[in-house]
Amino acid sequence: MESGADVNLSLVEVKKNLYKFLSILRKVGVVMLKTMLEKVLIIGTGMTGASVASLLRHDLSKATAISMWDKSKGIGGRMSTSRCNKDGRCTVDLGAQYISATPNFLQSHANYYTELTEKGVLRELSTNIEGHQDKVAGTKHFVTPDGVSAIVKYYVNKADPVLGKGYLVKDVSIANDKVKVTTDEGHSEHFDAVVITMPVAQILQLQGDIASLIDDKGVRPALQSVSYSARFAVGLFYEPGTKLDIPWSAKYVTDNQCIRYISVDDRKRGKSSSDVGPSICIHTSAPWGLKNIEMDKDKAAVEILKHLQTLLPGLPDPVEVKGHKWRYSQVHKAYPDSPGCVVLSETPAIILAGDAFTHSNFDGCVDSAISVQQTLAKLVKSKV
Ligand SMILES: Cc1cc2nc3c(=O)[nH]c(=O)nc-3n(C[C@H](O)[C@H](O)[C@H](O)COP(=O)(O)OP(=O)(O)OC[C@H]3O[C@@H](n4cnc5c(N)ncnc54)[C@H](O)[C@@H]3O)c2cc1C
Repeated sequence: MESGADVNLSLVEVKKNLYKFLSILRKVGVVMLKTMLEKVLIIGTGMTGASVASLLRHDLSKATAISMWDKSKGIGGRMSTSRCNKDGRCTVDLGAQYISATPNFLQSHANYYTELTEKGVLRELSTNIEGHQDKVAGTKHFVTPDGVSAIVKYYVNKADPVLGKGYLVKDVSIANDKVKVTTDEGHSEHFDAVVITMPVAQILQLQGDIASLIDDKGVRPALQSVSYSARFAVGLFYEPGTKLDIPWSAKYVTDNQCIRYISVDDRKRGKSSSDVGPSICIHTSAPWGLKNIEMDKDKAAVEILKHLQTLLPGLPDPVEVKGHKWRYSQVHKAYPDSPGCVVLSETPAIILAGDAFTHSNFDGCVDSAISVQQTLAKLVKSKV
């Protein structure tokens, strides 16, 4: 019969071996995760792509290379901030204007709002937006003093990815158990997982195996049902010291067939300064945008400015005018049942995400990113 001391000793041994075993299991798990996800690509450096990247950077080991490719040279996607060529400090938000957080999202995304506010990226809107009506009582509005793209840049910097700027993805295929992604200029790389965040209409234009994956999964009709509004934006940049005789910081226009929204952008962002010139952003209405969608953006800017003259006669001449066409502006009809993301392939992973799979604003992008994070974790776990 064993003495009490022997029993205690063997219990200690069992405990020690159990810890050893668990630590080996953990190491094997991490190694498998690393080997399974050595290289991840996020297509699109907009809000969804940036938040996916920062969540994955947090979850995956530093050994996993996260790449982000975008056809554009700038970061932000539809959260875009444009700079004046003459003075880069003079900026205008041409896409998203301000962040409206309902009480539910203030709670469920509290970590995002707290972090962005503490870092000075977001600030509560301090002026009134004429004609704005909250759909949900208790909604809080935020602006970005340094321009709306600062939010996206913040999350991209956190993720510290390998950036492929000006990489227009043309083909997404599967080769040797990896996802092979090729750009229009023939640059090609293989990845263990690819998250595609571009607007759905552009996803449907991609070439390669992705087309048959969409058919095999039976999701083509659902993807084709997604629709976007279309609109044009114009940015006006002024010399420092220019006085704009406008009594509001932003306003929804209801009595013009072309223009729907105007902001004195620096004022809206609470960033007016005597050293830097003011800027104005104009958005057209969605019906005008749709009717003129094939018009060249600079030609459209001339038309829009004629309408602006009738609304704000006597505006001084800007030093620069920038026109932009948003062919895919806000999501008009989201993917059925707003699933957050859609998996086209499990191994290697190809996941579709973006505001089309939730709803078209900051919180929609964050929700889609969280859905990608959870989906990828499940896919990886099921293989470990
Ligand atoms: C005019 C306007 C006003 C808006 N106002 C607000 C607002 O006030 N508040 C708010 O919260 N939201 C607003 N939104 C909506 C908000 O901007 C979007 O919901 C959000 O930016 C979508 O982010 P995303 O990352 O899902 O997509 P995107 O920002 O569209 O990012 C997708 C990226 O994919 C890239 N891409 C596309 N095709 C390719 C390709 N073939 N290869 C490589 N890259 C590619 C694009 O260049 C883009 O950068 C507004 C949008 C617009 C256009």
